[in-house]
Amino acid sequence: MASDKSYIIVGAGVFGVSTAFHLIKKYPNADITIVDRDAFDQDTRVAASWDWNKVVRADYDDIVYCKMALESQDMFQNDLLWKPYFYQTGIYWMCRSDYAQEVIDNYKKLGRSADLAAVPIDEARKMYGGLFEDADYTGVKEVLINKTSGWATAGECLINITREALRLGVKYKQAEVASLLLDNGRCAGIKTGAGETLTAKHTLLCTGAYTPKLLEYCAQASGNNELCAGDRIVAGGITTGMTRLDEESYRRFASMPVGVQGYTAEAGPFIGSLPPTRDRELKWWGQKIFKNDTEVLPGRIVSAPPAKRDYGQWDVSSKLKEDIDYANHVFYGKNSAHWNMEKHRICWDAFTSSSDFIISPHTAAKGLYVATCGNFHGWKFFPVLGKYIISMLEGTLEPELCEKWGWDRERPDPKFFADFPRHDMKDLLDPVRTAKL
Ligand SMILES: Cc1cc2nc3c(=O)[nH]c(=O)nc-3n(C[C@H](O)[C@H](O)[C@H](O)COP(=O)(O)OP(=O)(O)OC[C@H]3O[C@@H](n4cnc5c(N)ncnc54)[C@H](O)[C@@H]3O)c2cc1C
Repeated sequence: MASDKSYIIVGAGVFGVSTAFHLIKKYPNADITIVDRDAFDQDTRVAASWDWNKVVRADYDDIVYCKMALESQDMFQNDLLWKPYFYQTGIYWMCRSDYAQEVIDNYKKLGRSADLAAVPIDEARKMYGGLFEDADYTGVKEVLINKTSGWATAGECLINITREALRLGVKYKQAEVASLLLDNGRCAGIKTGAGETLTAKHTLLCTGAYTPKLLEYCAQASGNNELCAGDRIVAGGITTGMTRLDEESYRRFASMPVGVQGYTAEAGPFIGSLPPTRDRELKWWGQKIFKNDTEVLPGRIVSAPPAKRDYGQWDVSSKLKEDIDYANHVFYGKNSAHWNMEKHRICWDAFTSSSDFIISPHTAAKGLYVATCGNFHGWKFFPVLGKYIISMLEGTLEPELCEKWGWDRERPDPKFFADFPRHDMKDLLDPVRTAKL
């Protein structure tokens, strides 16, 4: 019989690893196993959490995430474990709504003083040696400059924190999870694609974009359709692109802030540009966020990453590459017209229509929990996510958060969420050439 302090965590992204890390710190003798299809230190992985870099900021108009991001950023700034991965370069956010003021108000409400301001466009254009002088300012009201924001070396941080959790006693199993062990309305663990079973008192799904597909498989295997995600979770893909800067451009851009082009929900998702890495690679993410409706089993259709071992993440179509060229153009205009795009990747994340995480017991089976749905903004919370997820597991999460992150809650119309997937992947693929006979 599984002990009370036994946990299977499916998924070694930031939600899963943060939970394992906080659990082993809290309960050094607990039996904790992370199961992921990829090795944690593989060169590349399908996880959204694996990446060259991610933005770390507390610039949120939602005060809950503003507070939580400040808590997380304090760890990146002060805790020796997290500090090596954080670069406090500042952020330059071109705002087309009242976003800048809302962020400033939230900092005030939380009693946080920081070097942040809403700067008029003419003044902002001259900042940082005029790097953003030729950006597209159409519709921009003002520029939010927060000198305390920045970015982190995401993949490196994920590997090293996983390593630390393993050193403290967490186990890691590389396997594809195929279904759940369900008995009398209770989840007792998982079954792998190779037919192996693992049991535990708590089974936590931190499976990112794959979650809806996995739950369809579990529903089919158990005959319990209540397990399905339904319209709660949508898998969405976003393209990233990178260029390696030449000597001269590197000298100009080396100490640049994170750049953000913010739009209104009607206009579309925000676009970002991250400062160069140690390898001098400057990165963008594009504006096209797309779903990929797929018949994952006969009669069962959900959005899911392509059914390839690596989610087909390196098969990037011309239209998606153009999305990155567009991102380049709206940030740097003529200053970057000569840069070559060298690397493209499609990154898959899980979305809810409110942009809130799901951190909740699953209502269809006791012992089963869900903690994922980063909604394109979850990475920055890596240092603290596990703390909140443990509170959920132990029934001590604040009522406001239980409601916000619940499996069953009212879900708003996605039209109010700028980053919700609005495109279909099939419309963004290259045309298939057929041989003429
Ligand atoms: C292009 C892009 C840019 C982003 N930029 C930022 C940013 O700058 N800042 C920020 O804060 N956030 C950012 N995000 C969001 C952030 O990356 C995600 O919200 C977060 O990483 C999600 O973490 P996760 O643990 O839920 O999922 P993931 O990191 O995707 O991890 C899920 C894991 O589950 C495993 N898995 C799934 N199914 C199975 C199975 N059946 N068997 C075994 N293993 C399985 C996968 O292999 C994977 O390792 C970005 C996202 C994207 C896509």
